[in-house]
Amino acid sequence: MSRFLLPRLNELEAYTPGEQPRDARGWVKLNTNENPYPPSRGVMAAINADEVERLRLYSDPAASDLCGAMSEYFSLDRSQVFAGNGSDEVLAFCFMALCPNSAAFPDLSYGFYPVYAELFGVAADIVPLRSDWSISVDDYADKRGTVIIANPNAPTGLCLPLSEIERLLSANRDRLVIVDEAYCAFGGTSCVPLLKKYDNLLIVGTFSKSFCLAGARLGYALSSPEIIADINKIKFSFNPYNLNRLTLLAGTAALRDADYYRDCSARIAATRERASEALRSLGFKTTESRANFIFAQCPRGLGGGEYYLALKERGILVRHWDTPRIIDCVRITVGTDGQMDALLGATKEILEAKA
Ligand SMILES: *Cc1c(COP(=O)(O)O)cnc(C)c1O
Repeated sequence: MSRFLLPRLNELEAYTPGEQPRDARGWVKLNTNENPYPPSRGVMAAINADEVERLRLYSDPAASDLCGAMSEYFSLDRSQVFAGNGSDEVLAFCFMALCPNSAAFPDLSYGFYPVYAELFGVAADIVPLRSDWSISVDDYADKRGTVIIANPNAPTGLCLPLSEIERLLSANRDRLVIVDEAYCAFGGTSCVPLLKKYDNLLIVGTFSKSFCLAGARLGYALSSPEIIADINKIKFSFNPYNLNRLTLLAGTAALRDADYYRDCSARIAATRERASEALRSLGFKTTESRANFIFAQCPRGLGGGEYYLALKERGILVRHWDTPRIIDCVRITVGTDGQMDALLGATKEILEAKA
């Protein structure tokens, strides 16, 4: 730490992303919830030498084509959509500008929420998940600050029904509810239809998981025109060209190939169910994940950290946290059937070596 850093940030603990090994080719990489399938042909075609040549020009600060395509895709007005540099940037703008009192979110959820709260000086009101790892909407009833819920939640994969989100929204219409739908396409229920009825709802989403574009860095916000105007004000005060030309093209093209991505998500959901079942037959406990990952509690006698390391020795990366409540658990991204077979094979080996 230099002597120039703001004292307020001395204690800031940065977010730790999942490992991104440089020699990615050799690994079975099931640790950061990337999509195992490539982007659609339309995306490949949209990025060509002509477009690379145009990189000398700034990108469209209004992201007009992409936002137009998103408004069609979600059947919303153009004034209700915003595109950001990953949903991380969108979430950052929310913490920066839309958490006037505090931010309430679960103790086990996306690891960036507490980091952004700290970075932007927002009081974090952390609400423990119930003992079955579910979110209880009643626990948020009297929270005055902005509520932030990932639905499905990470790393549990559990989903709240729309009726529960609606209860959260109607409990206090002067309180903003942010629903992070990063994993919605893999079996969750989107609350986009609730935007018609509630102007205190802000949905955050990403192209990283279900649109196979993690490396392009593209996320979005869907909300009331007033809230989207607020987010735009922040963006234009921070980084007007927040999206590069190639990402704008990739995102627009991806929305045109919706059928392809629906297919990928369905395959991932089927693989998830098959691999979860196999893990349960080996003694693991799994949640009812509606996301592109499996949240698995190790059988008695196998520590979560131990399992993580034993898999790593065998060239397989999963995610493990040294957090007391979930120390015996790992989060396993759902890859291709072949990748999951490799995981299951290695897991059998690890269990047999211990027996
Ligand atoms: C992956 C993830 C994000 C971040 O997505 P990017 O668009 O890649 O920044 C946001 N929220 C949750 C819950 C996630 O898991």
